[in-house]
Amino acid sequence: MTAIDADPALPAPVADLLSQWADIASLGSAAAVLEWDQETQMAGKGQAGRGRALAVLAGIRHERLTDPALADAIEAAAEHAEPGSLLDVHIREARREVRHASALPEELARQIAAQESRSLAAWQQARADDDFDGFVPVLAEMVGLVTEKADALVAAGIADRRYDALLDEYEPGATEAELVPLLGSLRDELSPIVKAVADSGVQIDESAALGDFPGPAQEAFGRMVAETMGYDFEAGRLDESAHPFTTSFGVRDVRITWRFEPDDFRPGLFGIMHEAGHALYEQGIDPDLEATPAGNAVSLGIHESQSRLWENLVGRSRPFWEWALPHWHEAFPHKADVTLDQLWPALHTVRPSLIRVEADEVTYNLHVVARFEIERALFAGEITVPELSDRWDATYEELLGIRPPSPADGVLQDIHWSMGAFGYFPTYTLGNVVNAQLFEAAERDLGDLGAQFRNGELGPLLGWLRDRIHRHGRRYTAAELIEQATGAPLTTDAFLRHIRSTVHEAYGVGA
Ligand code: ZN
Repeated sequence: MTAIDADPALPAPVADLLSQWADIASLGSAAAVLEWDQETQMAGKGQAGRGRALAVLAGIRHERLTDPALADAIEAAAEHAEPGSLLDVHIREARREVRHASALPEELARQIAAQESRSLAAWQQARADDDFDGFVPVLAEMVGLVTEKADALVAAGIADRRYDALLDEYEPGATEAELVPLLGSLRDELSPIVKAVADSGVQIDESAALGDFPGPAQEAFGRMVAETMGYDFEAGRLDESAHPFTTSFGVRDVRITWRFEPDDFRPGLFGIMHEAGHALYEQGIDPDLEATPAGNAVSLGIHESQSRLWENLVGRSRPFWEWALPHWHEAFPHKADVTLDQLWPALHTVRPSLIRVEADEVTYNLHVVARFEIERALFAGEITVPELSDRWDATYEELLGIRPPSPADGVLQDIHWSMGAFGYFPTYTLGNVVNAQLFEAAERDLGDLGAQFRNGELGPLLGWLRDRIHRHGRRYTAAELIEQATGAPLTTDAFLRHIRSTVHEAYGVGA
């Protein structure tokens, strides 16, 4: 019994590979459903049982991925693959996943899956209690397991260095050596902008965005915006969770979550637009690729480029709000006299802050630089887990000029490390850089996007993204997709142009 029926016209070895792969994809989807439930629905006492179930599923998936029958199927199917064909892509991606899975001893894979659930629960408790020291033993175990994993990947020849092995899981082919200059240049370019804003003495009046924003009204408005973006609620749903995320069980079931502040509408709305941007990518992958080796998003950097594009380049733009403002007035009647000139600046405040997910576009990448530097130090053995909180605070002081008053606003704020996701944060910054380059290219192809946004027409932009990015799955590498879609390799130019012009309009500084 497989998730998809094999096409009878396919050569038998190819059908065999696709059939085995569909089973493996289904095991992954089943685990994703359990994880979604764990974070949105499940009562706290369910953690232990859920951890066992996830560990069993991860173990079975790992057995299937490392089954010699699968390796045989891949090599038999490869004999039918024309260079450059879709089958060729399936072979490349299947080999890649098998190589990753085979590099990990089965016992280690099971331990990591079990530790994820324990560590997630411990993180939630530690964050609620504002107690980093209590979290240290659990996190140290997780770091130990992730280190073992990285060493196994290096030993298998997947990467040359421990941190590169971790990066490669989220951003295939990315290396620390390439990221250091990219993140370094952003820090060098963004720091003077942040300083110029501070020196300008301009204080943006944010009162338009603050007040009483009841949850149900925020949710209704956010759903309407997500629908206008093109998110298909018949192939997904929206729920609350402590940390917003998107999860896909296949192109026809892509779910998003959010959280909101009752006295500020911005985190809720932009969180929904961000996750809906991720979800549009997953819902837009060619259905024919579903549950095949080529049927996944290509990299987290490309994924994040989609979420940030909708959140920042659409959702914070003036033309979008020319359309959205009357709907917003209706949703929040006590704001009915707020004008666009009052609201727009409140969407573009630049201020060093402690929490990454609430950071503005300009300082956001400094939050990522901080995590990147701390992770590199941790996996290079320069610091230990108990030292993470102090290192965090010192890095924030250095990069952003502010110091977290307590771990909940510092090292405990993000879920990632508790889940063993080290090497993940740099993909956020790649996304920021990619999204601006894509947006400029879309505007070259589609004409004045602002004129479309003013009428609530977001479809042409989505269509362009579907055509250039979403539908391809893993047919092309991230670098190939960027070059094909924009006509040039990735640079920080478009992103910095966007930041400079926005800051100039909001603060009257720079150009
Ligand atoms: Zn995201």
